[in-house]
Amino acid sequence: MVKRGGKVHPDTFRHDARRALPIGNIATKGVGVKVMKFGGTSMGSVGSLNRVISIVRKTQKGVRTAAVVVSAMNGVTDQLIDIGRRAAKKDDSYKKPMRALEDRHVKTLKALVGKRNQIEALKNVQVLFDALERVVRGVYLIRELSPGALDYLMSYGERLSAHILCEALRSRGIKCEYVNARTLIVTDDYFGQATPHVEKTNRNIRAHFRAHKDLQIVTGFIAATSDGKTTTLGRGGSDYTASIIGAALSAKSIEIWTDVSGVMTADPRKVKDALPVRKLSYSEAAEMSYFGAKVIHPPTMRPAQLKNIPILIKNTFEPEALGTIVGKTADRSDALATGITSINDIAMLQVEGSALSRIRSAVGRIFEALAEHRINVVLITQASSQHSVSFAVALREAERAREAIKKEFALELGSGLINDVSVQRDLSIIAVVGEGMRHRAGIAGRLFATLGRMGINVVAIAQGSSELNISVVVGKHDETKALNAIHTGFFFPQTKPLHIFLVGTGLIGSTLLAQIARQRDHLRREWGYVITIEAIADAHKMAFDTKGIDPRNWRAALSASRRRMDVRKFVEMVKGIELPGKVFVDCTASDEVAAVYPELLSSQISVVTPNKRANSGSFSYYMRLKQLAKKPGISFLYETNVGAALPIIGTLNDLFLSGDEVVKIEGVLSGSLSYVFNEFSGKQRFSEVVRKARAMGYTEPDPREDLSGKDVARKILILAREAGKELELSDVKVESLLSPRARSAKTIEEFFKILERDDARFEKKRRAAERARMRLRYIATLEKGRANVSLRAVSPEHPFYNLSGSDNIVAFTTKHYSKTPLVVKGPGAGAKVTAAGVFADMLRTARDLA
Ligand code: ASP
Ligand code: MG
Repeated sequence: MVKRGGKVHPDTFRHDARRALPIGNIATKGVGVKVMKFGGTSMGSVGSLNRVISIVRKTQKGVRTAAVVVSAMNGVTDQLIDIGRRAAKKDDSYKKPMRALEDRHVKTLKALVGKRNQIEALKNVQVLFDALERVVRGVYLIRELSPGALDYLMSYGERLSAHILCEALRSRGIKCEYVNARTLIVTDDYFGQATPHVEKTNRNIRAHFRAHKDLQIVTGFIAATSDGKTTTLGRGGSDYTASIIGAALSAKSIEIWTDVSGVMTADPRKVKDALPVRKLSYSEAAEMSYFGAKVIHPPTMRPAQLKNIPILIKNTFEPEALGTIVGKTADRSDALATGITSINDIAMLQVEGSALSRIRSAVGRIFEALAEHRINVVLITQASSQHSVSFAVALREAERAREAIKKEFALELGSGLINDVSVQRDLSIIAVVGEGMRHRAGIAGRLFATLGRMGINVVAIAQGSSELNISVVVGKHDETKALNAIHTGFFFPQTKPLHIFLVGTGLIGSTLLAQIARQRDHLRREWGYVITIEAIADAHKMAFDTKGIDPRNWRAALSASRRRMDVRKFVEMVKGIELPGKVFVDCTASDEVAAVYPELLSSQISVVTPNKRANSGSFSYYMRLKQLAKKPGISFLYETNVGAALPIIGTLNDLFLSGDEVVKIEGVLSGSLSYVFNEFSGKQRFSEVVRKARAMGYTEPDPREDLSGKDVARKILILAREAGKELELSDVKVESLLSPRARSAKTIEEFFKILERDDARFEKKRRAAERARMRLRYIATLEKGRANVSLRAVSPEHPFYNLSGSDNIVAFTTKHYSKTPLVVKGPGAGAKVTAAGVFADMLRTARDLA
């Protein structure tokens, strides 16, 4: 509002083309001010400038905008540098980009400023270009582009853009004034990256803004020495300008308007899972921007932080997006880190010599020499032996850095006190930043475990003593891989890593691998399980791959491997890999493999297996495994020991845990024998049915394992033990279906020949049962602490009468289930269901970890 004689004149708004909108000229009493800054992309085109204008116009209650700080139109600063360099080489080709530059600014201005004011507005731009021409001409003539001249040249970018915005605002009736920041910000004469003199600058700013209550359009980036030479605050320095002005005015906020919606947890072009960061502390923002997150110019944080002024980072092209607030405190989420950034094209230099520690102030001299040559050191590490000092610089400065140091230490190099100054190129620095890392153990561990798992070699490490930043130097080719891995580890710690070491690639093992191949992506996306197959072994070979074996391609990996399978060596390898979530999956039926479980379990490795050998071994061995598996973070799971994936052991455990007591367990526990007796209906001879069962994969490779009753005996033994009974395998009374002759047959074929001779005996039993309207079932029973397995005929009322295929059935009669038993029934054999059961147990180990 415009005050005129204490009253607002109603016509003021209607008639004056440069009428005032309530933005820059509200009385200041009791009203806070804010400073806005728009970057090069926001200033870069007519379209984006229109957005800027509408953002500037938006009023905010209780706050008025004192200043809008602007960058040059995007690309202009680079173009000016290019023009200057060409001119300095007496290269006339500078004229073309110069004309293009003029053209772009004039066109933009014309599109934004109404006809009425165009002529006057264009005059300003013309004057600037004339002056710019003269500067470049001067450079051309004296063939020299000093840092001072370059700063002066660059200053035109911001001066032009600020003029254009100011004219555009005015033509929309917004009262504003153009300000060249050279009249406000006083710096030293370190051209290209001058340091402001805080007191003088603050005095200037305050005086200026006291006298100018209209909206001030200020050139970013540029400043001047106390004797009036133009300087710049470093590339990207317009943010800094805004912060300096905001701090001097004790602004309520500083808004940095850019082309992204605030800070992300990582560069979204490199890390697809990057998340927006809502709140950052000043220190975090500074660390992140030093290390490559190009959202905000690093020194910007300092003035704002001293006055505790929040910096709001917003997107001109998506103004509704929340953006990021940089303030005193970080986000209070319990994230392990705030962001992960990287810079590439880095080289590490190493100054080496056993006598290095004896050279006085060697380290000081190294960095002085570098400073003298204006070489920026990004990261430093020193071995505690003091035999070498390493530091990282931008790749393009590596040679100059080496020369500078060689010159400084020419004497020492000559006398051998220093051996060499070596350069390692093509590196990247990755920095993990966050207040959340302070005083938190395991952060570095998590970082290095992640890198290790990905097989990424770490060249150097540095951790700020503030614990705000851990930086690692890695090969440039590893940068994206490392960023992604670290990002997942730090921002999705709820992911459940599973590192699988699989032994046995028979029917179950290979089916499991196929199931993993199919489910893996889904499990990762929907449930956070990250499955890596670290190793696979069959009876002959073993293959390890830290990058993970592709479960679709495991056969190739295994056959390409040169390692002979050796269980002991396999275990040593598994133990040697330092990863969380290691799972040993035993898909063999081997005693030798079952014998290594205790060692695995005591080394924090979970064991998942359908192999019954361990649990049906001696009772003391069984107890020992149970005991070891009680340790937190590891599991020993074997649901598939009985009834494949059917929830039999799980159910029994649940009954037990809830205080129930088992009275009797009865079951058809062999899928193969269930199948055999379900199929044995008189149409085929017994031996034929067994052959068929074997062909369909229902029996063990040697069907005698099934027919002997031994397999069923092991199962009822395991159930008995799970029910708390102390039994040995020899305690289980087994009625074998094999004659002694069949048992001693040398080969499977020979066995079948012998079995054929028993066909008549089985047929007789079948007929007898049939006549009594009963069916043959091979049943295991546990009652009164005694276990037995026998072939029985059951009548139609019995729950086991109606079974089909390879169905298993278990009936638990307990204290709670006394009248009718708790029955679990369903397919209890076959590679698919068994592998699926193993798969589920495997996932369960990760759940137990979380
Ligand atoms: N125009 C300058 C640059 O490109 C300053 C800035 O954009 O903040 O570096
Ligand atoms: Mg910028």
